[in-house]
Amino acid sequence: MDPKPAYRRILVKLSGSALLGRQEFGIDREVLQRYAKEIGSVAATGVEVALVIGGGNIYRGVREASMDMTRAMSDYMGMLSTMINAMALQDALEKSGLETRLQSSIAMEEIAEPYIRRRALRHLEKRRIVIFGSGTGSPYFTTDTAAALRALEVDAEVLIKGTRVNGIFSADPEKDASARHFPRISGSEVLRRGLRVMDRTAFTLCEESKLPMVIFDVHSVGSLLRIVQGCHVGTLVHWDA
Ligand code: UDP
Repeated sequence: MDPKPAYRRILVKLSGSALLGRQEFGIDREVLQRYAKEIGSVAATGVEVALVIGGGNIYRGVREASMDMTRAMSDYMGMLSTMINAMALQDALEKSGLETRLQSSIAMEEIAEPYIRRRALRHLEKRRIVIFGSGTGSPYFTTDTAAALRALEVDAEVLIKGTRVNGIFSADPEKDASARHFPRISGSEVLRRGLRVMDRTAFTLCEESKLPMVIFDVHSVGSLLRIVQGCHVGTLVHWDA
């Protein structure tokens, strides 16, 4: 039997860019299926799972072509791109036998429920995986901020963010081989050292509510499950004095 999960309810933010896999644009089928498998293994422990997925893989090319576009318009396009990923993820999860609901912050009633906090809570209680699409529904924000916001709204115990590297380092590990890895770090230390974990708005939301974060390598197979089982994976950002 699986050990008892370390959390009752989690919110996982997955990067859209990671869905590229080896492709230049779009969604790599293998990565998508791996995401679904990892999330499925976590849901099987009984933990309630909410998801937010970015739009980088779809949106980046669009952004380059739309450099002189009005910021709000381009941001709405970014939010729509998160819906494409959210739908792909929903489909992959359902194909592996999981029950899901997709809620959108921008009305798209033919394809997703509107975002309704109390309904999302009900789905989670019934062990349905809830995917929050369209970011916050407002331009000038990011999907990291949407993830922090929804995590707080649904009372998740942790915000788990999948990135390209295994947590937080003293410098960019992709550029600096001497970069030191932090297995655990306080939020105030992150700020003091000027480390980049999430954008300011997202970070401040977590700080104000003392919401712990775990940052991990989204490509590392089995990491998400180990985090939920209470193992030390990636970096834990805590708010203890
Ligand atoms: N976006 C927005 N408001 C939100 C969430 C997202 O305006 O609440 C836009 C913003 O332009 C952002 C884009 O959608 O750059 C795609 O999200 P993001 O870049 O955060 O995706 P990721 O890099 O995580 O794949």
